[in-house]
Amino acid sequence: MTRLHNFCAGPAAMPTAVLERAREEMLDYRGQGSSVMEMSHRSPTFEAIAAQAEQDFRDLLAIPDNYRVLFMQGGATMQFACVPLNLLGPGGTPNYLDTGIWSGKAIKEVEHLSIANERLAGSHIAGSTRNNGYVHVPRPDEIALSGDAAYLHYCHNETIGGLAYDYVPQVGGSNGEVPLVCDMSSSILSTPLDVSRYGVIYAGAQKNIGPAGITVVIVRDDLLERALPQTPSLLGWKVYADNDSMINTPPTYAWYLAGLVFQWLKHDIGGLDEMETINRRKCEALYAAIDTSDFYANPIEPVNRSIMNVPFTLADESLNSVFLSEAESAGLLNLKGHRSVGGMRASLYNAVSEADVQALITFMQDFERRRG
Ligand SMILES: *Cc1c(COP(=O)(O)O)cnc(C)c1O
Repeated sequence: MTRLHNFCAGPAAMPTAVLERAREEMLDYRGQGSSVMEMSHRSPTFEAIAAQAEQDFRDLLAIPDNYRVLFMQGGATMQFACVPLNLLGPGGTPNYLDTGIWSGKAIKEVEHLSIANERLAGSHIAGSTRNNGYVHVPRPDEIALSGDAAYLHYCHNETIGGLAYDYVPQVGGSNGEVPLVCDMSSSILSTPLDVSRYGVIYAGAQKNIGPAGITVVIVRDDLLERALPQTPSLLGWKVYADNDSMINTPPTYAWYLAGLVFQWLKHDIGGLDEMETINRRKCEALYAAIDTSDFYANPIEPVNRSIMNVPFTLADESLNSVFLSEAESAGLLNLKGHRSVGGMRASLYNAVSEADVQALITFMQDFERRRG
């Protein structure tokens, strides 16, 4: 059996130790005589798995007690609708920062919901770097909230553009604090985080949390009372909070695997400070290899370069397909850039090791020597 170097943007590489543990427990979970995926979600065994996963996640991010952690389905994309549905009950204008494809999809969804719904007020773009080709994020003094802002939404790490915030946007607002809402799908758990700065954080699992099929939402408890009355129950955060995320059958196996990833982060890696150190070494090595070559390029301003997703182009684009096929033969998988931008992209999520990144750099340098 060979596990190759996997740079997939998502669903992404899982830690090998987690997959081995899941394999050991696959047929008979710790003497229960059945697999986790064959158990009632109401059984004491699964309830313990679910509660442990939540506790480990809370410990990793030091989540304060006045925040609830919800386990939902539908991916981050469903949260693009959940955010306005759950926060616009009292009215106000949803504010968004635009930094590329994922924040743009969140904006499209709120505008879609606003059509034919007079209680939703379209959206206010509080900052955008579209005119600069999204090579940096809006600077703090380029963000202007509308006077009646209901919340400010941003995407911490644009997975496709390889662009990330180097600061947490301020949300003063005229009537006191405006809740800050963040899509952290591709960066959560890559570094420590001050959750208390946020009203809501959400993330689809399939980048840094576990397999596809589960989505984690962290929400400050006072924000659970703001849903629009017509919010469908399965899209309402409060319903999940009141039912320990078991309003209907949750994605039990994905939840269990996420729990194993949290255990791995805590015990094998040693926590998020340690994870950040490793992640920074990984991306710095790759950016250095790109920057010291005339053959490879990354357009993002250095302070806003993503530590998780590194897009790059070749000086000679006609070599793209031979680069990808030779990379694959060398055991380097999923380096093709997103279909909307082309080029290459290496995603360096938590489960991607320093050895994986070194193998990529060695291949890139060899390719440049032969073809550059
Ligand atoms: C992957 C991703 C999404 C979409 O996630 P789904 O789970 O496919 O809905 C949204 N936002 C960001 C930042 C992502 O990386």
